[in-house]
Amino acid sequence: MPDSTCFWINGRLLPEREAVIPVTDHGLLYGDGVFEGIRFYHRTPFRLSAHLQRLADSCKAIRLALPYTRTQLTEAVDEIITIFPEEDGYLRLMVTRGSGPMGLNPAGCKQANVILIATRLEMVHPELRNEGIRLIIASTRRLPADGLDPRIKSLNYLNHILARMEATQAGVEEAVLLNGQGRVAEGSAENIFIVQGGHLATPRPADGALAGITRGLILELAAKLNIPAREVPLTPYDLYTADECFMSGTGAELIPVREVDGRPLRHCPGPVFSTLASAFRKQVAEECKTRACKPREGEPKESEPKESLS
Ligand code: PMP
Repeated sequence: MPDSTCFWINGRLLPEREAVIPVTDHGLLYGDGVFEGIRFYHRTPFRLSAHLQRLADSCKAIRLALPYTRTQLTEAVDEIITIFPEEDGYLRLMVTRGSGPMGLNPAGCKQANVILIATRLEMVHPELRNEGIRLIIASTRRLPADGLDPRIKSLNYLNHILARMEATQAGVEEAVLLNGQGRVAEGSAENIFIVQGGHLATPRPADGALAGITRGLILELAAKLNIPAREVPLTPYDLYTADECFMSGTGAELIPVREVDGRPLRHCPGPVFSTLASAFRKQVAEECKTRACKPREGEPKESEPKESLS
């Protein structure tokens, strides 16, 4: 881990060597748990309440009692952002089933573990943000919605990892997972959008897409900018023949796609992508211009001017 990484477990900030949980935690034994990935800019978590809502919903869906209130989690986030040495970073918030006897039955797991990690994150090389990434359609499929609802952000990413390995094997940056019916679901850790004839389209959660916070924001921005947008089933053919394609996610932010399965796309970065990417930057700057948490010692106070992100 980079030196700057900070750890908080079950209410306490800890040095890395003490940031441990028992190997009998069902999060490790069975992937039994849920998580969120949250970015902060200017020491302000972006869309924290949406992330905490999704975390609470994921917990509810898997009948996992979250041992902290929303206010307590917000305080924990503020606490870790305050000690993090940089203004911008990435948070990983995890809730595991906790320690218990061997066996799938979680009844013996009496206390969930809540883990928060603050770190630096560079998902893609900055050059690729301009040039665009290449995708393959993975042979590994998204789990069916009636097997595991894609809205649950669970700790089990094995098929996404296998899809990402296929991308690496093929020498490209990212993989797209299809659902069992051959419809496009999403990337291994991002949602996917296409633009065709000025219209924006993205798969529905029912097709296997996580209800991404960034995806939601793009749909919001598209509505504001009068860009027609639809949540519809898409096939690989729709990706191959799109005018533009891009990925969205907290870690990824917005990344243009230049090629799918060896077929170059018409525009990369395309005009709709560029409009949305700049609206996204503006939105982040607007929502994260004030510090949600205390300034670090020696740092300017809230009223003093700060740099803009855009
Ligand atoms: N799909 C998957 C499988 C992901 O892991 C992520 C990253 N959280 C996303 C989509 C994007 O979601 P969000 O915009 O909420 O980060």
